[in-house]
Formats: sequence, structure tokens, C-alpha cells
Amino acid sequence: MDIKKLARPNIRSLRAYHAEVVPCKVKLDANESPYGIKVLDTVMTNRYPDPSAKELRGLVAKDLKVKPENVLHGNGSDEIISNLIMTFGGPVLYPVPTFSMYGIISQAIGESKVVIPLDKDFDLDLNRMLKSIKKEGPKLIFLSSPNNPTGNSFSSEKISGIIRQSKGLVIVDEAYQQFSDKDSFVPLLEKYRNLVVLRTLSKVGLAGLRVGFMIADKDIINEVNKVRLPFNLNSLSQKAASDALKNKKLMRSSISAIIAERKRLFREMADMEGIGPYPSDANFILFRVNDADRIFRGLLRKGVLVRDMTGTVEDCLRVTVGTPGENTVFLKALKKLL
Ligand code: PMP
Repeated sequence: MDIKKLARPNIRSLRAYHAEVVPCKVKLDANESPYGIKVLDTVMTNRYPDPSAKELRGLVAKDLKVKPENVLHGNGSDEIISNLIMTFGGPVLYPVPTFSMYGIISQAIGESKVVIPLDKDFDLDLNRMLKSIKKEGPKLIFLSSPNNPTGNSFSSEKISGIIRQSKGLVIVDEAYQQFSDKDSFVPLLEKYRNLVVLRTLSKVGLAGLRVGFMIADKDIINEVNKVRLPFNLNSLSQKAASDALKNKKLMRSSISAIIAERKRLFREMADMEGIGPYPSDANFILFRVNDADRIFRGLLRKGVLVRDMTGTVEDCLRVTVGTPGENTVFLKALKKLL
């Protein structure tokens, strides 16, 4: 029996998201925070979690100055992306290179994708985006800003232009917003009814909990809530995330530490010959390097795992900002290899 043939055709040609576990001393490949907390909890495991994650949503709403009814929780923002595509369908439009899950989930669900290359500065190609909006009429447009893997934020005027021209929803994925000094799109939710903002706790020390959110108009939330599985966010994650949001000291100090280290990493990398780091508003830096494959393998031999992006952006690797000590190990290893 050929199991592959049993799967729907769109699944047959799909390649799974790449998330290998590679043993290493210094792990700088997955845009996690190097700072976290150990959780020991008092949650009773015999009860189902709160299906509406009321406390957690309330805390997020307060933080972002929106109403709890404008917040919906997901098992990571990955799940929200999936629920959005399941709810509204395609065509799904997004610029490339960007976060790969927009494409993977669209294909898995069986919705068509429209991809538009970013311009030479990794910003949105507004003309091509607008033309495509007119021609293809996408139901959903995903804009990761700051963008993974390029690290830059898109021009906010261009994003607004796209929101205004789109008859579908525009999802501004702000997974890395806390590391950026550019304005969030959350305040614009009042102005644009077709805007959706995504947030996650994964980049600020809680990736293991799998907690993400969408913030949007109540009518959008209500539709997406129909496809959300009832107990999608487990009790331990709800409790630990709520605790973390009640006392944001650790989160805040780790974010400043990462921003300071990003500056140091960028400066030191820019001074090295043979590599070109790209400016970043996120917790990682994309860099161009001759012979990326040799550098990737050389770093790994020295115990440092970065992300090989050569399949997505030619000659590029991506390093996540770690602790000062981890970054020093990375920089030293890189210098030697160059
Ligand atoms: N959006 C972007 C742009 C990302 O880079 C990531 C994580 N790599 C996600 C969403 C998914 O985050 P989460 O851990 O909340 O599923």
C-alpha cells in the first residue's frame, strides 16, 4: 500500500517545516530567547484548561491597550496562521523570502499561494503587491514585520497602502516587534477593520510554552474562533504565560540585553572581512558570506549551530542573538573560519 498516494495531492508534494534537533554547545539557530524561567506549577492536571484562556487574554489585552474580545489565543502563532487560513481560505499572498509557515500551511490546507519577491532592500515591492492584489484578489495577505529571515521591518506606509487596497485581511505578523524601535500596528486596528496583528511569546523566553495571539476586530475573532480546537492552549502554558505577563521584569531585561547584544554582534560582524550582516529589528541577524556551506559546517564543528538559509536567500546564514558569552563563542569561531 502506498501511503503517500493515500494523502491528498497537495500534501504529497509538500515538504515539512525543517526543525531538526542538532546537538550543539551554542544554539543560535531558532530565534529563541537565551533567557527563560523554570516552571513548577500548581495547576491541576485532571481538569481541562480554560477553553477561552480568559485570564491570559485579559493580560494581553491590557498590555496592548485593546479589549479582551479583540484577542484570540493560539498554540503558538503558528496555530493562528493555520486557523486563519482554514477560516478564510486563499488565495494567500505573501512576499518572499519570509516565514515559511505561511506557504506550508496554505498548501497543507489546499489553498493557493501567490508570492511576490521583496525588492533589493528586502522591503515590499508595493507596485507588484498592489497589482497582484487587483489581479488575484487574495483573501489573506501575510506580512512579517520585522521579517524573518531578513530582519528588517517593512515600510509602514507600504503596509498601510496594502491594507487600504486589500479587500481581504492583511495580517501583520509582529513576532519580533519587541526588538524593534518601529511602531506596532496594534493602534491601527481601530482605523483598519481588515487588519489582523499576530503576536507570540516565543521570542521573549517562552517558546516552550507555545503561546501566540491574534488581535483583530471582534467579527474576525468570532469567525476564527469557530475553527479553533476547544482546548488548544494547555493549563500549564496558560498559567506560566499569565505569571510571566504579570511580572514582566525578566522579559523586559532580557529584551534589552538582546538588543544590546544584537548591536555588538552587528558591529563586530560588519568589521570582519568576507561577510555582510544585514541590519536587524529582530532577535537575529541574517548575514551573507562566501562559501556559506563551509562556514555553516565549520561553526557546527566548533559547537555553534546557526541556521542555514541558503535555500531561501542565496549565500546567507542566520544567527540568533544569544547571551553575551554565546555570542562571543560564535564571533570567535566565525573569525577563525573566515
Ligand atoms: N511568525 C514569524 C515571523 C516567526 O518567525 C515565527 C517563529 N519562527 C512564528 C510566527 C511562529 O511563532 P510561534 O512560536 O508563536 O508559533
